[in-house]
Amino acid sequence: MSSLDQNQHLHPSCRDKTTVSSDSSGTRELAKQPLQGLKLASHAVLEKAQQRGRLKCSKCGGSRMFFCYTCCSLVGVSLQEIPLIKLPVKIDIIKHPNETDGKSTAIHAKILAPSDVTIYTYPCIPEYDKDKVVLVFPGPGAVSVQDMMQCLHDRTDSRSRDFDKPCIKRLKCEEVQGSTHTAENPELGTPDEAKGLESRAFPLQRVVFIDSTWNQTNKISTDERLQDLLQVELKMRKTCFWRHQKGKPDTYLATIEAIYYFLKDFHEHCLAQEYNGEYDNLLFFYSYLHSVVNKAKISAGKC
Ligand SMILES: [Zn+2]
Repeated sequence: MSSLDQNQHLHPSCRDKTTVSSDSSGTRELAKQPLQGLKLASHAVLEKAQQRGRLKCSKCGGSRMFFCYTCCSLVGVSLQEIPLIKLPVKIDIIKHPNETDGKSTAIHAKILAPSDVTIYTYPCIPEYDKDKVVLVFPGPGAVSVQDMMQCLHDRTDSRSRDFDKPCIKRLKCEEVQGSTHTAENPELGTPDEAKGLESRAFPLQRVVFIDSTWNQTNKISTDERLQDLLQVELKMRKTCFWRHQKGKPDTYLATIEAIYYFLKDFHEHCLAQEYNGEYDNLLFFYSYLHSVVNKAKISAGKC
């Protein structure tokens, strides 16, 4: 099986390239690859799995490569062979029900950072505490990752000043959590002693991403349960996504790219730590698939 054939199994949408034969000109592309220089675990395991071809998922029987996007489990690759990443903050991904699972990169995050990532299918989403949760979504009111922590602090401050005033709407969830809120807040007693990473990240507890096509995204982002969340925008990042959506800006990132860039900024600007590739492996599958598709494109003479 040529690498091009394998690529078509991975990406059925690339069928238009069938007439072009595969060759070894992939190296020409190196200069154009923005995913170079990442600190990644070896892709040897993926190369081997790709050579074996698709296998049946033991849970649902679906024909899969690397992982099953329906069952969220590995296929033909063992847990020990792939990197496991610990994230500095919890991530929720809200998936549009119409989004084709096989095309979504949200599953990459769940598989690589299973204890920190939760995927919800819209309209099933949790009630969020607006003082501790942000939504990564561009818009006129969106702030940068750099400004995010200050904005969250300002929100908390102004709300504690307003504490005596009657609260207007959607406070059910906050009331339940209110009793533990004060005890957890290291800043109320000793504002300058909060040196640990957890304290630096305080009050941010969770970051919400929306996983859907450009057109479906607006419906989710305007859901009233997300309306009051601070919106955070990832500026100046360009997508490497091979399924670039026609007519959309190239700053419209694949979900896994958005998570990666957010965390990188968060690490540098909010945790004030030097970034040493801590979350690069979130792009473990993405960068591999990207290189496979790129090689196929070069073979097809499209680059
Ligand atoms: Zn399955």
